[in-house]
Amino acid sequence: MTGPACVGSDPEIFFPPPWEVTPVEAPPSNGEREALAVCAGCPVRSWCLEDDLASASTASRVLGVRGGLRQSERRAMHRARYGRRPRYGTAPAEVSS
Ligand code: SF4
Repeated sequence: MTGPACVGSDPEIFFPPPWEVTPVEAPPSNGEREALAVCAGCPVRSWCLEDDLASASTASRVLGVRGGLRQSERRAMHRARYGRRPRYGTAPAEVSS
């Protein structure tokens, strides 16, 4: 198989309900585990993770399970990489004359 492993899967499993979204320090919930199991065998997992991180303007826009990682894990990665400020739509820096 060369394509995404989630093709044909129910997309909802990748978006566990809020009560099943776990913090980084906790073990994954059953809902998260179900999605992580699909990602585990995915040949495009690295690309998927990078695409998800690069396309989210803020960490809060990182949702669900993608790229073999939970929402909390990817949000932590996004904050570490881009900081806490929005990546797009920020006012340009003032130019001093
Ligand atoms: S890594 Fe991405 S493309 Fe692959 S199964 Fe998981 S969500 Fe789908």
